[in-house]
Amino acid sequence: MKIGILGITGRIGTILSKMIAIEDFIGGISSKSTDAEIENVVKNSDVLVDFSSPKATLKILPFAKKFKVPLVTGTTGFSENEFEELKSYAKYIPILHANNFSVCVQLMAMLLKKCSEVLTDFDFSIIDKHHKKKKDAPSGTALFLAKQVSSKAQIVSIRSGNICGDHICDFSGENEMLTISHRAFNRNIFASGALDCAKWIVGKEPRMYTMADFLQSKIK
Ligand code: NAD
Repeated sequence: MKIGILGITGRIGTILSKMIAIEDFIGGISSKSTDAEIENVVKNSDVLVDFSSPKATLKILPFAKKFKVPLVTGTTGFSENEFEELKSYAKYIPILHANNFSVCVQLMAMLLKKCSEVLTDFDFSIIDKHHKKKKDAPSGTALFLAKQVSSKAQIVSIRSGNICGDHICDFSGENEMLTISHRAFNRNIFASGALDCAKWIVGKEPRMYTMADFLQSKIK
């Protein structure tokens, strides 16, 4: 399977390029790539894996549509309009978007949903901690986790040092508090999760997919 990477010079793109076997790596796209270079990578790829910026993701979509190449994207920070534009391309190619490619974070989301069904009169809050160069706040993961609960989440974002990603979720009641938290020790989980999804999405029907679709396919 030939893989092209959007965001090749970034924190996650660099890890991805080391994880992919040389013979499977078609090439990378960064903010310095010309349209001709982008076209060349896309047309020779069986699947594109993207950790870049919303602008970069939207720029690559017409190329992916033209050459019918599926896209797995972990880029965060899309505005509502930008995300609608991303989704509009799922009519033509399969697209999997995940704000977090960690399987543990996906399980955390499922737990939060269950807890929220029971703890209906508890307040819900999230602290999201990331490295100080992260561009979006709250994190895409915090927004994704907030969507799992019925009450409105209070979100606090801390940007400091080189933190890979901590999410601390509290259900606070009058007499007790339930905390569910996740810590990424390094960024490998995001890259390997995206690669697993990339292998899975090739050959799928054009539509939007989530990590939940991918995980569901693994449950026997
Ligand atoms: P980074 O800033 O280190 O790298 C960004 C990459 O995108 C660089 O290669 C840069 O050249 C490229 N890029 C930026 N603008 C571009 C443009 N206009 N055209 C072409 N290329 C462009 O960022 P990072 O830490 O690797 O994260 C990238 C994205 O992935 C962010 O949105 C981040 O929040 C997200 N992320 C998602 C997950 C997840 O599991 N879903 C995990 C970590 C990071």
